[in-house]
Amino acid sequence: MYYNDQTIVFLDGQYIKAVDAKIDLYSQSLHYGCSVFEGIRSYKTESGETRIFKAKDHYERLQNSAAAMNIPFNYSVEELTEITYQLLSKNNLQDAYIRPLVYVPANMSFSPAKESHLFIAVWVMQPFFGEKLLRVMTSLFQRPNPKGFKIEAKAAGHYVNSILASQEAKSKGYDECLLTDIHGFVAEGTGANVFFEKNGKVYTPPPGNILPGITRATVIEICKELNVELQEKLFTPAELKTADAVFFCGTAAEVVGWESFDDEKFSKSWNESIGRTIQVAYKNRVTEKKVLQEKEEKVEKELLNA
Ligand code: PMP
Repeated sequence: MYYNDQTIVFLDGQYIKAVDAKIDLYSQSLHYGCSVFEGIRSYKTESGETRIFKAKDHYERLQNSAAAMNIPFNYSVEELTEITYQLLSKNNLQDAYIRPLVYVPANMSFSPAKESHLFIAVWVMQPFFGEKLLRVMTSLFQRPNPKGFKIEAKAAGHYVNSILASQEAKSKGYDECLLTDIHGFVAEGTGANVFFEKNGKVYTPPPGNILPGITRATVIEICKELNVELQEKLFTPAELKTADAVFFCGTAAEVVGWESFDDEKFSKSWNESIGRTIQVAYKNRVTEKKVLQEKEEKVEKELLNA
């Protein structure tokens, strides 16, 4: 699914076949979850170009995650971006998922690494949730305590929490779950941030107990452009149940609406929600679709036909 005999990956300065890539089984990353990674997407734009969405933001976060985990990492954002475009081209991919991973060498102790390895893989991005609306449950798991982890780092070890919570939700017949923070306030999904709409305003939890997502930042930008009032605030799962509509957002998930939360439906249909407008705006933005131009062309055509 992720690679075949022909797939090329980037590993420590070289473009090699995925089937030839090797990792040291004594790596501290493998044993203790001490590695950092990113989840990035590239899109075929309206004009047919391949564009990595917010490459700078993702690679800066990778650098920050490595620094937070005391992992030495010296690639610049420009180098990383260039390598990724090369890799996409070598694999003939435009709509792709991009997975950079910074991991450390053999070390069975807890001492900091003196060097790191960089692995980047790309693969075809299948629609993650598509147009589907999600049935979400409140997870019994909470997000990691920010006093026990560098919660803002995208570190592999944190994802044990996501795996447990996601598996719990799926085993109970839900699509996804929502995790609270250690105080019982809504935090985020297993791999996505959450927003809700109530009386024409949009709300999302503030940074502190969440991974402040790059898609979340894009949604906030879109709200400003659309003149939608947005507020960061703490709220409980009970308050979320009174929402008019709810959605998750993340690089892989993009913007995806909820059908229900703990089996309770919302007052607005997704298609009439602000979230739906944001979903369309997000898709237009990542594919660089010129909406204004399109509208103008439509008006022009209508005039011609009149
Ligand atoms: N929260 C968590 C726990 C995540 O893993 C992700 C996915 N990276 C997100 C939120 C959304 O982040 P982004 O929009 O940067 O993909």
